[in-house]
Amino acid sequence: MSEGLLVSAYLLAAMKFVMSLAGLSRQESARNGSFYGMLGMTVAIVATIAHASIAGMNWVTMLMILGSGIGLYLAKKVEMTEMPQLVAILNGFGGLAAVLIGFSSAIEVITGTGLATAVMSTAEVMIHDAQIGFGVMVGTVTFSGSIIACLKLHGRITSSPVSLPGGHWTNLAIIGGAVLMAIVFVQQQNMMALLLMTAFAFVFGITLVMGIGGADMPVVVSMLNAYSGIAAAATGFMLGNNLLIITGAMVGSSGAILSYLMCAAMNRSFISVILGGFGTEGGTIVATEDQGEHTESSAEDVADMLKNASSVIITPGYGMAVAQAQHPLQELVNKLREKNVKVRFGIHPVAGRLPGHMNVLLAEAKVPYDIVEEMDELNDDFTDTDVVLVIGANDTVNPAAMNDPNSPIAGMPVLKVWESGQVVIFKRSMATGYAGVQNPLFFKENSSMLFGDAKKSVLDILNFV
Ligand code: NDP
Repeated sequence: MSEGLLVSAYLLAAMKFVMSLAGLSRQESARNGSFYGMLGMTVAIVATIAHASIAGMNWVTMLMILGSGIGLYLAKKVEMTEMPQLVAILNGFGGLAAVLIGFSSAIEVITGTGLATAVMSTAEVMIHDAQIGFGVMVGTVTFSGSIIACLKLHGRITSSPVSLPGGHWTNLAIIGGAVLMAIVFVQQQNMMALLLMTAFAFVFGITLVMGIGGADMPVVVSMLNAYSGIAAAATGFMLGNNLLIITGAMVGSSGAILSYLMCAAMNRSFISVILGGFGTEGGTIVATEDQGEHTESSAEDVADMLKNASSVIITPGYGMAVAQAQHPLQELVNKLREKNVKVRFGIHPVAGRLPGHMNVLLAEAKVPYDIVEEMDELNDDFTDTDVVLVIGANDTVNPAAMNDPNSPIAGMPVLKVWESGQVVIFKRSMATGYAGVQNPLFFKENSSMLFGDAKKSVLDILNFV
């Protein structure tokens, strides 16, 4: 393929990626957004392969088929509740790709086998080495951080913050070691320095994410997403590939914007979350503290409450995803609307385990978009609401965030469900939410617990409505 055709193909792919991001920003157009993304990526891959004279094309083809097969299998097999882990690990793979390309470039530079570096001046080689060092460092932090994020989201390791002795200072020393080794690598083209830098960065990625508490994981996942984009952009500079630079910059900036929005929605300072400050020094986690007596309801009681209500708000959380309760919920909503009950959904920005997690599930169940409202849109309406159904939500409806300055989730805006007439909490036990914090909502006078799997509870209620 000629250079001109390659540039045109890359321009087309970049345009498709922009259209993809635009499409993904709204639920109604998200499907088209995904399609444009796939189209752009296909154009990019075909053009790159057709242009480059790749040694070992058989290997490349074989590995691409193998990788696509594994990707297809995982995407088909993954449960909706495991999506966050998949997203986290995919960010990590982006980082790993940057690391592998960085090492391959470093070997070319050091052995003098690279075509490009053979014609570079000394200053240009140094800039190239700096790009390698930067790409490998960010890629490694993304990779190891994403593995820890994936394990935390999968419940394989504790969601509570865990720090090394010395806390932030130890982290600072580790990243300082990585930067020092990067400088040595750039100055001396020393492979051992690059390996040591990678080791430091690997440990830093682990300690960075281990130090962050459960409630702040959404910011971490979007931050790792941004890092994977930055690593890809650095790889683009290494390889002199404009499309990779554009794509990496788009992923990096959209991930950074999402992290910023998440922080703003949760009333967090971005820097303190990234440093693992929030949740470690804020207070003690009180999972078992005695809060008083709770009241239990039956499906029939809840059905009666709903039949007598004129306005109802449903606030779903991660438990709705686990139970897959969205379909019977939609049925319940239809029945209540037929009885002229005003029903709305209230969505907290970090409900579930992914940005937009609840919106995706409700869209899948064909809940009309116009009754799904964001927290800010309806948080003042609870006082005029008769009944709130909290379906598998916990941290996002925890009043301790507003009332207890010592709580690890203090300061996080939450849905003020307790201001309504009656609150019914659908969950299986008195267990805490992802942040590991007990919820005083469960013990309020106007609250009652409906224990059991949320889907089964909603199906039971349907029998009485
Ligand atoms: P939580 O994780 O706080 O609580 C979910 C509740 O659902 C649990 O208390 C659990 O109680 C209940 N539950 C689980 N399975 C079922 C079931 N089958 N039927 C009924 N109930 C069930 O959920 P929230 O959505 O309120 O909060 C999300 C948390 O996750 C926040 O801390 C947020 O910061 C964090 N997070 C969010 C991300 C995002 O991007 N949205 C990403 C990473 C973390 P029980 O076991 O007793 O049933």
